[in-house]
Amino acid sequence: MKIISSPGEMTAWAAKQAGAGKRIGLVPTMGFFHAGHLGLMRLAGRHADLVVVSLFVNPAQFGPGEDLAAYPRDFDRDRELAEKEGVAVLFVPDAASMYPGGFQTTVRVGRLTRYLCGASRPGHFDGVATVVCKLFHITAADCAVFGEKDFQQLAVIRRMVADLNMAVEIIGHPIVREADGLALSSRNAYLDERSRNSALCLSRALALAQKSAAEGILETRELAGRLRDFILAFPGTEIDYIAFIDSRSLEPVAAVDADTRLALAVKINGRVRLIDNGPVLQPTASPGATA
Ligand code: AMP
Repeated sequence: MKIISSPGEMTAWAAKQAGAGKRIGLVPTMGFFHAGHLGLMRLAGRHADLVVVSLFVNPAQFGPGEDLAAYPRDFDRDRELAEKEGVAVLFVPDAASMYPGGFQTTVRVGRLTRYLCGASRPGHFDGVATVVCKLFHITAADCAVFGEKDFQQLAVIRRMVADLNMAVEIIGHPIVREADGLALSSRNAYLDERSRNSALCLSRALALAQKSAAEGILETRELAGRLRDFILAFPGTEIDYIAFIDSRSLEPVAAVDADTRLALAVKINGRVRLIDNGPVLQPTASPGATA
C-alpha cells in the first residue's frame, strides 16, 4: 500500500492508473478506523480496480468550539487496517496542502443543508462538499463510497454530483453497528462506560419509533414526543434533534410513510454529539420471498 501525502503526487498517481484503464474507488474518511470504515473499503473494492482511502481531519467542516483538536487519531493502526483491506493508496494530506494560502473557493449545496446537522452545525456541509469535491478531482475517482450513518452527508454529496455533472458514481453503505445496536463512530472513543450506556438511547429510540409505527402511531408529533421522553430518561442526554424526514428531500413530514426516515442527534454528557438514523417502517419482504 502506498502512502501519499502530497495532492500533486496523488493526482499524478491517479492519472497514471486512469491512463492504464483502471477504475478508481475512493473512500473519504477522517481516520481512526472501525468496522464501518473497513466495510466501506471492502465495498469500494467490489466496484473498482484500485481503492484509494483518504484520511484527512478536515478543519473546514468543524465549527468553533467543536472537537477538531481532540478528534481521535492513530495513524499506525489505520495504516495497518487499510493495508489488510487491500487498499492501494492511503492519501493523507495536511491542511496546508489542501488549503494553501490564497484558497477562496467554497462548494455550497442549498436547501438540503438547511436541516438537521446543517442547522446545528453552520458551515459544516460547505466544508464537507468542498473537500469531497477536491478529493474527487485529486484522486480521479470513478466511484466513491459513503456511509448511511451520515445520511444527510450522503444526500448532499449525491446532490452536488448531480448538480455539478461530476462523473463519479456514489455508493451508499448501510450503517454498521455494535452487537447491542450502537452505530460505530470514531467519536465513540470519547465514551466512558456510563456514557456509552446512555449512547444506546439513539439506536433504542429508533427501535421504539419502529415499534410504535408498527402499532399504528404514525403522527410524527406524537412519535417525537414519545422519543423525547425516552431519550431524556437516559442519564446525561441532551437532544439536538429528533426529525422525521422524507428520505429524499430531508424535509420534515407530519405522518410516517414508507419514505420516512428518523434522524437523531443527541449530546451525551454535554460533550459527545452522536447521530443515528433509519427507516421508520420496516421494509416489507420482497414479493415471492420465503422465510
Ligand atoms: P468519518 O471518518 O467519520 O468521516 O467517516 C468516513 C465514512 O465512513 C463516512 O462516509 C461515514 O458515513 C462512514 N461511516 C462512519 N461510521 C459508519 C458506520 N457506523 N456505518 C457505516 N458507515 C460509517
